[in-house]
Parts: sequence; structure tokens; C-alpha cells
Amino acid sequence: MASRLVNKLAFEQRSRAGCSNSSYVFVRCSACSFYYVYDEELEELYFDPAKLTKWSASISQSAPCAGCGAASWKLIAATEVELPAIATAGWYFCISTTR
Ligand SMILES: [Zn+2]
Repeated sequence: MASRLVNKLAFEQRSRAGCSNSSYVFVRCSACSFYYVYDEELEELYFDPAKLTKWSASISQSAPCAGCGAASWKLIAATEVELPAIATAGWYFCISTTR
């Protein structure tokens, strides 16, 4: 099981969303290196760390990537080595420090 890289509390203090079962992971687009936060429980993607806006469609629908616009793309779970890039992308406020 992947380590939890997202600080749920910090994320939800900003998003005011999610539910008690929400479980977040950093993911990126397979076609570019655009990072998202994905709520595995609610199957919701967040693409804008400044606004914590949800991406337009659930993961089960085929919406284009918010980063590169590719119509055909997959989510890849980010790993710990990507944390610097994730922080640079604006998600630094919800990176877990207690893994
Ligand atoms: Zn992309």
C-alpha cells in the first residue's frame, strides 16, 4: 500500500469538502506531469491548489486532462520522490509530514 502523502486535515481545512471516509492521494497525468489530488472515496479530482476546485468530471468519466488537455490519459499515483515537484505545483500546504 502506498504511503499516505496527503495531509487530510490540512487539505480539508482548505477544501471544506470531502467526507469522513475521504482518502486522498497525489496523482499525476500519464501524458504530462500535471498533479492532482484525488479523493479515492468520493472519486473526486482536485486540480487547482489555489482554489481547490474540483475537476469537472469524476474519474470514471473521460474528461480531458486539466494540464495538457489530452483526451486519453490515465492517473498515475505519485510517489515520495515526486514530492518536490508536487510542492512546486502548489500542493505544499497539504503534504503530510508524518509518514
Ligand atoms: Zn496531462
